[in-house]
Amino acid sequence: MHVLIQVPKQTFKMENKPRICSCIEKSIPLDEHSLFDIVTAYRERPKNLLLDGLSTKTKNRLDEAARTGNMLLISFSPEDREQLFELKLSKNEKWSNGKTLRVRFINGSEFLQNKVKEFAPIWARYANLDFKFVESGETEIRVSFNPDGRSWSYIGTDCDTINQNEPTMNFGWFDETTSDFEFKRTILHEFGHAIGCTHEHQGAGIPWNKEAVYKYYQESQNWTQQQVDDNIINKYSRPLTNSVYDSQSIMHYPIDAALLDDASYAVGLNADLSEEDKEFIASIYPGRPPYDLFVERIENLK
Ligand SMILES: [Zn+2]
Repeated sequence: MHVLIQVPKQTFKMENKPRICSCIEKSIPLDEHSLFDIVTAYRERPKNLLLDGLSTKTKNRLDEAARTGNMLLISFSPEDREQLFELKLSKNEKWSNGKTLRVRFINGSEFLQNKVKEFAPIWARYANLDFKFVESGETEIRVSFNPDGRSWSYIGTDCDTINQNEPTMNFGWFDETTSDFEFKRTILHEFGHAIGCTHEHQGAGIPWNKEAVYKYYQESQNWTQQQVDDNIINKYSRPLTNSVYDSQSIMHYPIDAALLDDASYAVGLNADLSEEDKEFIASIYPGRPPYDLFVERIENLK
């Protein structure tokens, strides 16, 4: 039986420190690691790449690299590289459906680790994925709690290209006094990245007041204009988290009205998976019985 944890809704006010995730997408420069990301995504789930237009030669070498898992054995020609790097623009990072993702903690108190164990599996009610928390051995996801004020995660299969000694996710502002609202909101967001979701607000045509946005994130996060562009303003040039813009998505940053040309686009702190999040992730990782969605709707009607 699932126990639903109720947390109060909170609105986002700009005077509060925004506590936002800077997720990691390794896009520039296109180097050996990018090639590794591409092959890894393909190997995990061939549909992660749109192979239209790929030459047979390059496709064969991609298959060979995916089959052996050893990039060093494959000599990609400059032409292969060019073609594969082009695929990166439309690459997805979804895990294979039904996969068990192993999670290991690099550090952190038992209290903090238990919060991750409590909230992260909420995704697995809707996604046909399981999280297995392990003490040792090879893992897909490694969680650190380095208190540097930054929370982030690599996206989906990109985690599989990171050294086993290094974290693939960090929670930078958790301590013993953190509220369950903040735990739930941040843990669900970062685990959303870890299962392949990208930022919702970067898929939409949000009417940013760019000058205000640059100034605000420079002052509050010490972000450069490039970081603001990468994490907030720039649209993804690839398939989105969700096909329809969803301001309630857990993958959406909070947005204060003062950062917008149109205040109606303001967004509060989302701490739960939205109905669209649940339906979207169930469509990417199908197989969970629709029981949970159904029961929740009934509960909501009471
Ligand atoms: Zn994020």
